[in-house]
Amino acid sequence: MALIKEETAVLKNYINGEWVDAKGTDTMDVPNPATGETIVKVPISSIEDVNLAVKAANEAFKTWKKTPVPKRARILYKYHYLLTENHEKLAKLIVEENGKAYKEAYGEVQRGIECVEFAAGAPTLMMGETLSNIAEDIDSQMFRYPHGVVGGITPFNFPMMVPLWMFPLAIACGNTFVLKPSERTPILSNELVKLFTEAGAPKGVLNVVHGAHDVVNGLLDHEDVKAISFVGSQPVAKYVYERAAGKGKRVQALSGAKNHHIVMPDADLDKAIANIISSTFGSAGQRCMACSAVVVVGDGKAFVSKLKEKADELIIGSGMNEEVLLTPVIRDSHRQKVLGYIDAGIEEGATLLRDGRKEMDEIEKGTFLGPTIFDHVKPDMTIAKDEIFAPVLSLLRAEDLDEGLDYIRKSRYGNGATIYTKDARAVRQFREEADAGMLGINIGVPATMAFFPFSGWKDSFYGDLHVNGKDGVNFYTRKKMITSRFDY
Ligand code: NAD
Repeated sequence: MALIKEETAVLKNYINGEWVDAKGTDTMDVPNPATGETIVKVPISSIEDVNLAVKAANEAFKTWKKTPVPKRARILYKYHYLLTENHEKLAKLIVEENGKAYKEAYGEVQRGIECVEFAAGAPTLMMGETLSNIAEDIDSQMFRYPHGVVGGITPFNFPMMVPLWMFPLAIACGNTFVLKPSERTPILSNELVKLFTEAGAPKGVLNVVHGAHDVVNGLLDHEDVKAISFVGSQPVAKYVYERAAGKGKRVQALSGAKNHHIVMPDADLDKAIANIISSTFGSAGQRCMACSAVVVVGDGKAFVSKLKEKADELIIGSGMNEEVLLTPVIRDSHRQKVLGYIDAGIEEGATLLRDGRKEMDEIEKGTFLGPTIFDHVKPDMTIAKDEIFAPVLSLLRAEDLDEGLDYIRKSRYGNGATIYTKDARAVRQFREEADAGMLGINIGVPATMAFFPFSGWKDSFYGDLHVNGKDGVNFYTRKKMITSRFDY
């Protein structure tokens, strides 16, 4: 049964503490990817809606920036409590709009809550620095200040965690916020706002404007939006970074990925395979930290046959079924793009070890695709280079670790990489030389926690300061230096 009520058939925007209809009259259906049934419609808001939200946020900033930091933090404590109380309900909503498995969704909610925990430390995090006696009778102090209105633009794959990477910390630091959620998974954002309001957030501090590229452009161009946090695909991340930076805004744009997992000959095969299966096929491969390329070092015979065996055993279906690991991809349009990649892999000469297209025909409803594995993929093939963002895995063969590291170095992306080995020397070489920002040692999804930066490199990130951790605090604050003379 749909968790969204009839009367909320078209989602509302949240502006200045009110649920309002978008001025833009277009809407888009939001189907449940597992059934294809429309659960709600999302408004495609206009520039007018953006301007109203930014105006409200700008007005709210005048008092919010002066609200004592501990008082701001107390709202986050309350928010933490409310999110925890609603953990299961939020997880079910994620399954419904995104399609991922309930266990994954439950974990996503937990990751989001941890961001709120971190942001609640604002009184400590926002502390400045001082040095007395920088010259005779002269002291220096550094204070942190918020920017003003921050715009947040989020992707479909983590409808809870990614917005929570952004607005709790931005708001704790004294900014006000306009969120533009993914139009493909917009429901969670409204739930997040409802609970934030219940936690005591004053009107205008957090606003939500649903829609697509017009809303994004409205935020990027608006002179009262001072900073932009973006998470999404590579072409859009680069576009957002360039357009907003060109307008003088501070920007962090987290982008696409191609994460390599190196399996060394001494790896514990059962454990490595369990990690790779879960990383590659969990959430239908639609995670920016998903494994999408395995580098098999050595002859790899045992590894490849066991991997195929495990992929054959995977249970495919709705995210609410506890046994299911492989859930649907987000839309049929995305699935069609993925099918194009499978054709390209075959045409370019890779060996199709397991063809997930057969499961597509077996499951009538929903946008499913079975586990698909290509072997003997060469690094210059399209399937090795592009982010496919689906349950499609490429196996590359390497003689040794140096060759494996070279594949990682040559990839345009550098979000994550993992090695499976017991060899300390290999681990150290991997840590020193792998050209990516988040590494795993015998870990399938080495995503960082809220108190560390989410640290993609190369084309996986545009900007300087990453989301979360101290980077996040530095991103959402600007520093003011005071130099004082006391000998007058
Ligand atoms: P997407 O780029 O399609 O959409 C992201 C946001 O940008 C959405 O809010 C969307 O409305 C907006 N957008 C899309 N096209 C636009 C355009 N032409 N102009 C202006 N705005 C536009 O991304 P997605 O498919 O929703 O999310 C999946 C992608 O996000 C993957 O590439 C994944 O790797 C990436 N991602 C990265 C991270 C990370 O930490 N690096 C985390 C999560 C997701």
